[in-house]
Amino acid sequence: MSEFDLIARYFTRPDRGHPSVLLGVGDDCALLRPVRLQQAISMDMLVEGRHFLPGADPVALGHKCLAVNLSDLAAMGARPIAFTLALALPAIDESWLQGFSAGLFALADQHDCALIGGDTTKGPLTICITVFGELVTAGALLRSAARAGDDIWVSGTLGDARLALAYRLGELKLDASTLAQCTPRMDRPTPRNALGIALVGVAHAAIDISDGLGGDLGHILTCSGAGATIDVDALPAGPALASQSIALRRAYCVAGGDDYELCFTAPRANRQAVLDAGRDTHTNVTRIGSIDPLPGLRLTDRSGIALDLNTPSFDHFTTP
Ligand code: ADP
Ligand code: MG
Repeated sequence: MSEFDLIARYFTRPDRGHPSVLLGVGDDCALLRPVRLQQAISMDMLVEGRHFLPGADPVALGHKCLAVNLSDLAAMGARPIAFTLALALPAIDESWLQGFSAGLFALADQHDCALIGGDTTKGPLTICITVFGELVTAGALLRSAARAGDDIWVSGTLGDARLALAYRLGELKLDASTLAQCTPRMDRPTPRNALGIALVGVAHAAIDISDGLGGDLGHILTCSGAGATIDVDALPAGPALASQSIALRRAYCVAGGDDYELCFTAPRANRQAVLDAGRDTHTNVTRIGSIDPLPGLRLTDRSGIALDLNTPSFDHFTTP
């Protein structure tokens, strides 16, 4: 099979009539219709052995590599339009390609996000997606927009992806039902696009949690020139993690990573509006703390006593 057969068979589909896509896969460039307000663009690269384990299920991988990109759009409050796909493959493996493209397009179709082009080459398995979105109303959710006095919220639940990874790495043992509960959170994260869109005009700052709540909230604090206090025991642990020890629960909720939930801040006056956004988009939202003028991130237990969890977030160059 040639490169072009591969593209035609696995990555080219009939025109799906997306209003923003004038021309998709097959020419030198794709053509998008200009959007009226703002366009949001983001790219994420997944490398075998770095972001996913060798031998990872291709269906889950197809889902995840798009999900992590859609999650970045969600964190800005942007609606997905289209994406491009750069793929390095060690060899043409049709059963892998079938699974990968099925997982990829299933999620793309859920979000009405069209594959409009890409590049395909031979090399160590690497998947790089650029995603294009649009702001439906003005006012993207910027990392720099948190204000002292804001509530801090998180969507969904935290830590189950890290629990599944710990099992896969042999760091701990889990029974079959716990494992069945947490594994999908690692392999098939759910990007929170509907919630992100609903939060435009309601929330101030937002970020998606990929490297752990503490580190990612830290980016909001740095960009906003503010600090925060978080009640660690208010963090919504995933159902599998909730049955583990309190130490593990706290550690994985604060610094687990791979959650792809939204962490966002909103003025106190918008508490009901945030709850409404959660209800309207069928997404749980939990209030976990507040933004303070004093720089730094302070973690407390339920009774307000300071905790020192020493749980650094993930960094590609400093984490072993
Ligand atoms: P060019 O040589 O002009 O860069 P290519 O031969 O790389 O074009 O690709 C041919 C067409 O197939 C282009 O429209 C490109 O966007 C698309 N394409 C290549 N690889 C992929 C892929 N993995 N997924 C989707 N579209 C792809
Ligand atoms: Mg090319």
